[in-house]
Amino acid sequence: SLSDRLGGVFDRLRGRGALTEADVRTAMREVRVALLEADVALPVARSFVDKVTEQAVGQNVLRSVTPGQQVVKIVNDALVEMLGADASELELSVTPPAVVMMVGLQGSGKTTTTAKIAKRLSGRDRKKVLMASLDVNRPNAQEQLATLGTQIEVATLPIVPGQQPVDIARRALQAAKLQGYDVLMLDTAGRLHVDQALMDEMKAVADIAVPQEILLVVDSLTGQDAVNVAQNFSEQVPLTGVVLTRMDGDARGGAALSMRAVTGKPIKFAGTGEKLDALEAFHPSRVAGRILGMGDVVSLVERAAESIQAEDAERMTARLAKGQFDMNDLRGQLQQMRRMGGLGALAGMMPGMKKAQGALATAGGDKMLIHMEAMIGSMTLKERAKPELINAKRKIRIAKGSGTTVQEVNKVLKMHQEMSTAMKKIKKMGGLKGMMAMLG
Ligand code: GDP
Ligand code: MG
Repeated sequence: SLSDRLGGVFDRLRGRGALTEADVRTAMREVRVALLEADVALPVARSFVDKVTEQAVGQNVLRSVTPGQQVVKIVNDALVEMLGADASELELSVTPPAVVMMVGLQGSGKTTTTAKIAKRLSGRDRKKVLMASLDVNRPNAQEQLATLGTQIEVATLPIVPGQQPVDIARRALQAAKLQGYDVLMLDTAGRLHVDQALMDEMKAVADIAVPQEILLVVDSLTGQDAVNVAQNFSEQVPLTGVVLTRMDGDARGGAALSMRAVTGKPIKFAGTGEKLDALEAFHPSRVAGRILGMGDVVSLVERAAESIQAEDAERMTARLAKGQFDMNDLRGQLQQMRRMGGLGALAGMMPGMKKAQGALATAGGDKMLIHMEAMIGSMTLKERAKPELINAKRKIRIAKGSGTTVQEVNKVLKMHQEMSTAMKKIKKMGGLKGMMAMLG
């Protein structure tokens, strides 16, 4: 899946101390493949990757301590931007009746979504809603909508056998006006494939009903073909938004990205099940998160960005690059961890470290951080720079000064030694993830 793939790409990026521009480009090629596999349309994937690459290379990501995480953040932000701002839902503030027209392929979920939106409008928004089915192609399509109407206690236009869509639309509009409805929902017919007769019928209905909203209903499982569908419909009628159905299934998320890019219109709702209350406002950030599928890495990056001072970070990077790591460095890292919400909070945000979270919390991990800082605080500057000076006598002094025990001082020294060895061995590893791995 896209999530797994991107996860893999960024696992490789995360925790590496320094990236070259070539690294970023390689990673972005993989992102592109991942997007294509998630059914994002080729031109959409291409322009997305170009944009993100430019940002990643341009924003000094290469010099930062945690370039992988910065890249993740850039990709996430770009996904959210591409998916659009949080949806405005429906624009129905006109002299009633406001007309909402549903269009899309057969089986995409138009009729179900018509009823879902009607239920939402009549319940939550206390609107008086009338629904009318213009589907004269599929047997019993009008009855299907009438049945749903009964279930959700929303009126449907009485069926006149043999009447054609344009005439039904005209009749529905008149009924809605005369009977004081706030909203008229028009459910239209779909075909298995886009065809011109259907398009002409849809345009004729739109000319008569002048809808405030024309919503394109797209099955999020449709894959690459969803883009052609969106393209075709948006060329024929002035769409105002998109509804993605079957978001409850294992949709790969790619359809959402393509829809937004191709139609230029916001995704207003997500259908999340067959039941008539399974309709949600569309939240780009949630979908981006789903696409990235990597725990809460993004908020981790944001917190890191807040708490890490740029100069500290650069100094640290330089030292790590030389394989240097003294007690002051250890203390800096401990303080940083505490500023970011402690070990438990950090573990909770790291993918694959959720299990460690509980253990760290119960083991008093954060208290441990404070103790360790206190011990380092009780060391002289010379001891901090050259921990090998710390003999038995000095250990007793440090333990007393920090209100700890010699055993605990030994632990910190051992930890420092292990980390310093590791730093030398894997100079590139640096940063948070390496620290966490060793602490956890
Ligand atoms: P239409 O031909 O476009 O009118 O499609 P329908 O509204 O008749 O829906 C076709 C099928 O898709 C029905 O069985 C619906 O219950 C199902 N369906 C519609 N929306 C969703 C959704 O968001 N999630 C799931 N799981 N099923 C849906
Ligand atoms: Mg239908």
